[in-house]
Amino acid sequence: MKLSLRFILPLAIVLSALAYGLIPLVDKLTLQWAIRDLNIRSKLVVSTMEAPLADLLISESKSKLLAYFHRVIQDERLYALGFCDTRNRLVYKTQTYPDMIKCRDAGTSQTDSTAVVQLSQGLVHVTSAAIEGNGKPLGRLMLIHDMSWIQRRSEDTKWYIFYLFVVLGAVISLVTVFVAHLSWKGWVAGVRGILRGESLLTPVSEAQAPEFLPVAQDLRALIHDLEADRRLRDESQMSWKPAALRTILHEQLAGDEVLIISNREPYIHTRRGSTIDVQVPASGLVTALEPVMRACSGVWIAHGSGTADREVVDNRDHVRVPPDKPAYDIRRVWMSPEEEVGYYYGFSNEGLWPLCHIAHIRPVFRSSDWKQYVAINERFAEVVREEAKTDNPVVLVQDYHLALLPKLIKDRLPNATIITFWHIPWPNAERYGICPWSAEILEGLLGSNILGFHTRVHCNNFLDSVDRLLEARIDRNDSTISYGSKLTAVNPYPISIEWPVRWVQDQKPVPDCRAHIRTLNGIEPGRLIGVGVDRLDYTKGIPERFRAVERLLELKPEWIGKFSFIQIAAPSRSVIEEYQHFKEQVTTLAETINKRFGRDGYQPIYLKVVHHDPPDTFAYYRGADLCVVSSLHDGMNLVAKEYVAARDDEQGVLILSQFTGASHELPEALVVNPYDIDQCAAALHRALTMPPVEQRARMRNMRALIREFNVYRWAGRMLMDAARIRQRERVMQQVRRSDTLLRSERR
Ligand code: UDP
Repeated sequence: MKLSLRFILPLAIVLSALAYGLIPLVDKLTLQWAIRDLNIRSKLVVSTMEAPLADLLISESKSKLLAYFHRVIQDERLYALGFCDTRNRLVYKTQTYPDMIKCRDAGTSQTDSTAVVQLSQGLVHVTSAAIEGNGKPLGRLMLIHDMSWIQRRSEDTKWYIFYLFVVLGAVISLVTVFVAHLSWKGWVAGVRGILRGESLLTPVSEAQAPEFLPVAQDLRALIHDLEADRRLRDESQMSWKPAALRTILHEQLAGDEVLIISNREPYIHTRRGSTIDVQVPASGLVTALEPVMRACSGVWIAHGSGTADREVVDNRDHVRVPPDKPAYDIRRVWMSPEEEVGYYYGFSNEGLWPLCHIAHIRPVFRSSDWKQYVAINERFAEVVREEAKTDNPVVLVQDYHLALLPKLIKDRLPNATIITFWHIPWPNAERYGICPWSAEILEGLLGSNILGFHTRVHCNNFLDSVDRLLEARIDRNDSTISYGSKLTAVNPYPISIEWPVRWVQDQKPVPDCRAHIRTLNGIEPGRLIGVGVDRLDYTKGIPERFRAVERLLELKPEWIGKFSFIQIAAPSRSVIEEYQHFKEQVTTLAETINKRFGRDGYQPIYLKVVHHDPPDTFAYYRGADLCVVSSLHDGMNLVAKEYVAARDDEQGVLILSQFTGASHELPEALVVNPYDIDQCAAALHRALTMPPVEQRARMRNMRALIREFNVYRWAGRMLMDAARIRQRERVMQQVRRSDTLLRSERR
């Protein structure tokens, strides 16, 4: 109210002043219009009177003429009439005729004239009109019109104008204050929206002001492009090393607490007789996140799955790792064998894993598994609450085992910044819909502030799934989802590997590795070797690559005896029946091909179903002539990037499935469709005969890309986005505070 008065009063005063300024102009105009009116009116009266008057003058009947004059001045406005003869004598006049108006003043001319004369009783309009009779001038008729009404009207008009301006001023002020109030509220809401990451023009404001919709969309696209550009510039100017992550944590996240949560732990303690071994598991997730954690020194919460895991933890279930150079803590979460069967093998790996990969294996969904999955996710959420030292940690949730966790953490720690990364593909909405708990999983994931996938296609599939299954607001320009009162940004963050890879630094020179892996497998020095390094999983396309080797030997028999393929297949999820069948299938196929093309001292395929530690896998990468990654469907596939990283000699050829995330980033590989066996066989032949110069050119480009887009950049981008969200949240709190202050001041 105070604000309104402060605004209305000055405006009303300005408008009143303006009204006073206008009044003389209005007076003048009214007078001009009245004179013009009276001129016309007088002409009319004269033309009406001329003939009867001339007759009366000629008949010289004075009484009749005066009676005629008297009749005529019955008109309200016509004040008086007079007649001047040709010698300027006033010979006839009504009683009202003013003495001040003389015949001579009107002149002798035969032309008509008009004048405005100020008398004591007010203004009058005088018309002098020549009258003729029988072609001779008889004299002049004097018409005196009263003009006092004009003054009265002018007075009235002044007041009307004055009142009009005062009312107009008040109305304009009120409307302006009202609109300003609404816009202020709108802008505050808009700013809040932006700060929440909604952008100016979330559907709420669109609903309120649909006319702004096209502008808002353009603006949004522009802001989005500018932000993306700036982000890319900022990112590319950084040198992506562990130190860069530490800088982001200390400068942009102000040393905030970082927690990583995954099912798989980065170090597994296993008892072997009287000793305890420490193993790094074969997992893309661990490969990517372990260097990040080394740089951040937070806490990694994971399932304690090793046989000696309980023996090495302290009373808070913590153990410091890596064993040789401790940098961070693992907090182990325990589960019973039944829980592991339901949560891990059952719902995660017989349900979600085949659901998300197009590998022609039916997902199995059991309600008992789902129950365990929910219970274990809740257990992890409780551990996060226990481990959090602050109410707003940065929490990095990893993968499909923990899809419900983001929401469960948000319920417990509403101020936490949750970044979830989904390491496997996300299927299209139709396929995803077959999961009986599809909505619950989406709701769980939408507890995240940021949800990351490897590729834009997976992000879009996720948006489509939410669109189909939940009542959420989806902004496809910004790639954000508003569900409940929460906003989730869904972005692609292609995962990568550390650079330089620590396992390469301790490796022997390439010729030594070549010799080493041949000796190890009883292969003579000159034979060319292809390698595959995978978990023994049906999504990896291992039978397809064996068939490609078989087809190569069929089509190009000159390679028999000169080329062998070594497949490292780390046993994986062997409790699950599908995996047991798969192992049998792969083993049988390798044996069949070996029988068909094997000779004395020659074996086409070496299948090594045993886990290899990174120093061994990297020796294989360096010693092989080519590497085959033929996944039927894979989120990223880090083996492809590891092979490139291992080849500091810039030699070797990568054959890469088009259905991996990596193929989007590494077009210099020989990209194949793993289902097209002939194409894969041709790629093998091409790789085996590729000139060293071409190998170098391709390898150099791929290495440059991975060097630039390494795992530190992957994690850094997510942490920088998290920092932006936290920054917005802080500004948002300030806006809220000043808003409350403003409101209380108004009251
Ligand atoms: N790996 C390993 N030992 C093995 C087999 C695989 O250390 O015996 C590692 C491999 O080097 C890579 C990871 O396991 O780092 C597999 O990651 P990828 O993204 O290729 O597939 P995922 O297993 O995550 O589906």
